[in-house]
Amino acid sequence: MERTYLIKPSLDGDYPVVDYGDGVYLYDTAGRQYLDAAAGAVTANIGHGVKEIIEAMNNQAEKVSFVYRSQFSSAAAEQLAEKLARHAPGDLNWSFFVNSGSEATETAMKIAIQYWQELGRTGKIKILSRWISYHGITLGALSMSGHPGRRARFTSLLEDYPVVSPPYCYRCPYNLTPESCALECAQELELALKRTNPETVAAFIAEPIVGAAGSAITPPPGYYKKIKQICDRYEVLFIADEVMTGCGRTGTMLACEHWGVLPDLVALGKGMGSGYAPIAAALVSEKVIEPIRNGSKVVMSGHTLSANPQSCAAALAVFKYLEKNNIMEDVESKGTYLKNLLVKLQRQYSFIGDVRGKGLLLGMELVSDKTSKQPFSPEMKVTERLVHLAREYGLLIYPAAAGLDGSSGDGVIISPPLTITKREIEELVKRLKTVLEAFKQELK
Ligand code: PLP
Repeated sequence: MERTYLIKPSLDGDYPVVDYGDGVYLYDTAGRQYLDAAAGAVTANIGHGVKEIIEAMNNQAEKVSFVYRSQFSSAAAEQLAEKLARHAPGDLNWSFFVNSGSEATETAMKIAIQYWQELGRTGKIKILSRWISYHGITLGALSMSGHPGRRARFTSLLEDYPVVSPPYCYRCPYNLTPESCALECAQELELALKRTNPETVAAFIAEPIVGAAGSAITPPPGYYKKIKQICDRYEVLFIADEVMTGCGRTGTMLACEHWGVLPDLVALGKGMGSGYAPIAAALVSEKVIEPIRNGSKVVMSGHTLSANPQSCAAALAVFKYLEKNNIMEDVESKGTYLKNLLVKLQRQYSFIGDVRGKGLLLGMELVSDKTSKQPFSPEMKVTERLVHLAREYGLLIYPAAAGLDGSSGDGVIISPPLTITKREIEELVKRLKTVLEAFKQELK
């Protein structure tokens, strides 16, 4: 392709042109095969080219692809909302459909503010969030994101919502070990609320496992229980941003379920439509919908393409496929198998500082010195180079950040489709080892 007017992630970047996908593999127009160990951007949960989904989308398209949600509901949207209510824990029964994860987190944020307004507590308008986090690229979502690299150009437009440390055990902000940990990082939320004045705070938002900003930072046990207790004590809603972690990625519908915590609102995206159509959602609990139903009755949000039947039919078919093939049930054992193989690689390569994550959301933090955990200098562009090299060897991995500022350190996420087989996991690790070996030579 000689000339292009398409704005790509880098305007002078060199990107292969995709031809087709099949399961965990993608093929470009030059006939090269790639093992998609990233599920794109932690999205293609059921893999590529699944016939049932294409059929369901075709059937819907033959009837009607688009209706405006102020004029019509649709069977696809109604059934999808019912499906999500059935899979989601507790009373997270209500769905507001949008088209991207950023819209989902912003919608959840706005519903949280509206909830308090409907109860007459109009001062509760702020959101608190954590450093080392990513909640989306639109301005509201970016305001909540503790990602200095992505905020830098737009600080004049952003609110300063990130105020607390993440549960980053590898680089514990309190220099504690798992044995001495008393969840000080969760306790920070209480201090932040007191400082801010809880009467001005509508909600606290967090990613159960930190993705793009943290290469799968996973909290210690008890962390989210404590967070939820603090939120409840100070009458602040808890929003779980499960855009990356939700819809089975860690083996349960929501990652929060691993820690027995029920959020008031949830943002879903990515795996929800598995990449077959743009779709995302804010899930709303009965507690939060109640005053809106009894009050204004209108959730003040919405996009032209919200709840369009085409995207809803795709996501509905994805959930039916997950159920029919018991896919979520196998994620934990597949994830453990893959993680153990990654830990073996960690022992062999001095630049793999940490291997972490849950289910099939696994991350590796890359460091220049394992003992001191010294990061590489940002000028070395280690993540970018490793991801590029992996692609040359036919392996797709997801570039993420790591380190204490949540954007300049190096890390990658390994998150293949949940449908990956044991044999394919072994092939993934074999390709990764070849890549790491080549990278080790490059670093010399
Ligand atoms: N929230 C989380 C946790 C994410 O990982 C992302 C994207 O990476 C988003 C929100 C934003 O989603 P989208 O890119 O679909 O707008």
